[in-house]
Amino acid sequence: MFNGSRKLEGIPRNIGLIKERVSRAAEKSGRKPEDITILAVTKTVGADRIREAINEGLADLGENRVQELIEKYPEFDDSVRWHLIGHLQTNKVKYIIDKVKMIHSLDRIELAEEINKRAEKLQKTMDVLVQINVARENTKFGIDPGDAVEFVKRVAQFKNVKVKGLMTIAPFVEDPETIRWVFSSLRKISVDMSKEKIDNISMDYLSMGMSNDFETAIEEGANIVRIGTDIFGSR
Ligand SMILES: *Cc1c(COP(=O)(O)O)cnc(C)c1O
Repeated sequence: MFNGSRKLEGIPRNIGLIKERVSRAAEKSGRKPEDITILAVTKTVGADRIREAINEGLADLGENRVQELIEKYPEFDDSVRWHLIGHLQTNKVKYIIDKVKMIHSLDRIELAEEINKRAEKLQKTMDVLVQINVARENTKFGIDPGDAVEFVKRVAQFKNVKVKGLMTIAPFVEDPETIRWVFSSLRKISVDMSKEKIDNISMDYLSMGMSNDFETAIEEGANIVRIGTDIFGSR
């Protein structure tokens, strides 16, 4: 009773609102809210505020810079799962290979090769998502949609790298309706990919949708949404 009438503020309140919006969007697409992972994007956010988000039940944290990830990593125990969501330089793989649950930004074969080498040394398998530049923006990293199948087939050859799905960053727009096609295209690529029956890969995850567009992304099939601003405020 008391808890139900608790007046929430700040990060807990933001997360409560996001969870409601995620639930509604999930139901619209015929799925359950618990099928969708809310990944808290913690770039520029300090450990105390990150802890507030963890207290609200968010256990998946995303950083886009290696340096920031390795600085924050020791502040938390292994009940949280770190994800690398930004562009990854080949020479930095060694710093995160033992720390992250998944790399969302695999965008070139040399990177897959390096991840494979480092994972093999640790006798582990690294889960990755292939980043697709659906809107073919010059300013963004990612594999061209037309090259996606060939790329995944090549990555599938690496024994210690496991492709688990696809990721995209949609163009930033005022009205997310205008980029709905980006999300439906990524979904279509993943369906086509599944039909290829490539060994050693799965299409379990679609990581798409950010503060500005996550509901649209979920309606189009996202099961991981990466949210920073709507949780922690503007950076
Ligand atoms: C910063 C970032 C996000 C989160 O963006 P918000 O608009 O703050 O929600 C998601 N994905 C990637 C790759 C990012 O770099």
